[in-house]
Amino acid sequence: MNKTKSEQLFEQSGKCIPGGVNSPVRAYQAVGSTPVFIERAKGSKIYDVDGREYIDYVCSWGPCILGHCDKGVIEAVKQACDKGLTFGAPTEAEYELAMLIKECMPSMEMTRLVSSGTEAVMSAVRVARGYTGRKKIVKFRGCYHGHSDGLLVKAGSGAMTQAVPDSAGVLEDFTKHTLIAEYNGEASVKELFEAEGEDIAAVIVEPAAANMGVVPPKEGFLQFLREITKKYGALLIFDEVITGFRLALGGAQEYYGVTPDLTTLGKIIGGGMPIGAYGGKREIMEVVAPIGPVYQAGTLSGNPVSTAAGIATLSALRQGGSRLYKELEEKGKKLAEAVKEAFGDRVWVNRAGSLLSVFFTGEKVTDYQSAACSDGEEYARYFHYLLKHGIYTAPSRFEAVFLSAAHSHEDLERTIEVIKRAGKEL
Ligand SMILES: *Cc1c(COP(=O)(O)O)cnc(C)c1O
Repeated sequence: MNKTKSEQLFEQSGKCIPGGVNSPVRAYQAVGSTPVFIERAKGSKIYDVDGREYIDYVCSWGPCILGHCDKGVIEAVKQACDKGLTFGAPTEAEYELAMLIKECMPSMEMTRLVSSGTEAVMSAVRVARGYTGRKKIVKFRGCYHGHSDGLLVKAGSGAMTQAVPDSAGVLEDFTKHTLIAEYNGEASVKELFEAEGEDIAAVIVEPAAANMGVVPPKEGFLQFLREITKKYGALLIFDEVITGFRLALGGAQEYYGVTPDLTTLGKIIGGGMPIGAYGGKREIMEVVAPIGPVYQAGTLSGNPVSTAAGIATLSALRQGGSRLYKELEEKGKKLAEAVKEAFGDRVWVNRAGSLLSVFFTGEKVTDYQSAACSDGEEYARYFHYLLKHGIYTAPSRFEAVFLSAAHSHEDLERTIEVIKRAGKEL
């Protein structure tokens, strides 16, 4: 059988790029096949190198909330390019982006721009430690906070307080100060604070988890985290790299009405260009160099092209306002309902705004354990059925479906038709 161009490219790439990809999930290992290589995208559609068109529900894992090649964003990027790609000096646009973030997300009194979500979280954790003078960080099993050493931990089963690195090359010495709790599990958090509360610098959480598939917070869970951190003098960090400007203009903190001390952002705020940001209360952020003792720097931080794409994206979102977010929410709801209708009690569907996940399980999914119990092979069959019929979704059951403002009524109807047929045929 003749190989597709994607298959050929994957084979070639494997000769000079580990696994042929520059980020592991792209390799399709979790669904037992090989990736389609992408040539271009426009609006809600993405096109592979073999000329096939798909409706894109990955949206580059979140950034493309306006759809691909949004006119305003592309124009802003082109204009920025014409002025120079990087200066290594402050620009007015960095001020504009920081102010825009602050206006939309008032807890971000001060913001530092960096170049990725990983960098943002790594820096926020350093700030939390520098500010509190404490060592320990609490993170939740199944939450992803980028690939920095101390956070690449979800702990083996049962080892509640002993953090085991998820990756070779990460020393236990670097993860021994990371404590693991259960998402939506108040008791597990309480236990850690009762044992080591005086040593805990911060609790870091995805306010709506989206890296074990989507798992929304239970009623009161985020409020509980707010209260217990306050009680023990620890900081609360919301990792809003996905949820920021996704659930609402003011992120999950607006959507759920809980205000953290520090927030990390990425993805959407770069409009498709590499970026990250961390920030929060002025008093805390004033520990950051050059005005404070916590060192953090970046050659390309606040890069003019990324910043321009970010400003254009956030401005468009702000202009779209509550109507835009309401429409995104409605699309999410519609899609989630269609999956439930098509698959009945074979699936559990979780949704937070325009993020959703389909778990092939008859049980509720509320944390990592229940997410991991879903059936990976059934998900793979579902994924391949959709892909074959022109619907591009995440090649892993632990990722989210992302909707964009560019998804039309027609796109949704077409998608729902395919899902209905999948429900009957699979
Ligand atoms: C994507 C993601 C990160 C890491 O961001 P990168 O830009 O990939 O480094 C961190 N936290 C969350 C919640 C994410 O989804």
